[in-house]
Amino acid sequence: MLHFIVFCLGTVTGSFLNVCIYRIPLGKSIIYPPSCCENCGHRLKPLELVPIISYISLAGRCRECGSKISLSYPIVEVITGILFLFLFNRFGLTYDLLSALILVSILIISTFTDIEHSIIPNKIVVPGMAAGFLTNILLHPDKLPYCLLGFLLGGGSLLLLAVISRGGMGGGDIKLFAMIGIFFGLKLTALSLLLAFILGSIGGLICIIFNLKKPKDTIPFGPFIALASIISLFFGNGIISWYLEMFF
Ligand SMILES: [Zn+2]
Repeated sequence: MLHFIVFCLGTVTGSFLNVCIYRIPLGKSIIYPPSCCENCGHRLKPLELVPIISYISLAGRCRECGSKISLSYPIVEVITGILFLFLFNRFGLTYDLLSALILVSILIISTFTDIEHSIIPNKIVVPGMAAGFLTNILLHPDKLPYCLLGFLLGGGSLLLLAVISRGGMGGGDIKLFAMIGIFFGLKLTALSLLLAFILGSIGGLICIIFNLKKPKDTIPFGPFIALASIISLFFGNGIISWYLEMFF
């Protein structure tokens, strides 16, 4: 029962993340107006606001004007629900859970704004950095130096790459990884960097092999950064100790 409630809370949060994903890149307020159809402005009624179920019952179309509702809405809601559930299982009812929920929510927003608008907004990443520092000051003040090092490692590595590749890495990616570094500290940031480049290379190859992108096209890196960080969040410590046992 508790798990079901956590999943539902996740989908409701996902619904709010959708508002952020759609409105922040357009410079719109995330508070006003309340949720409405992007096409005709029809205000959503309470039943049309229920995550996932409303999309299914409306068959993916606005009740008023019949325009299509993007499939990314229910996808974000499902992903957020599932991740909230897994994080609850991983961390239990602790303050670390709160920190992880904030991080994952920001990663989900960044992934979808990067896919749909090719940007990772400052309005998401900068408050995320503040939240990262704040949760660490409150929860693990002893680890604060590692947060600063994580910030420098995450942001610095990508900044260096951006300079070497002359703009091959976007400013949003650099700031996003700096933010992840604050949450993760040194070890998990290093692992996330490694995983992000491995996943990014595999993703790039798959896009080229299946003709989804041409070799010259840019592929958003944000989703790979997010995926790598989520893997690190769940399995990072396990992967690192496995690696150390294998080679040392
Ligand atoms: Zn409409």
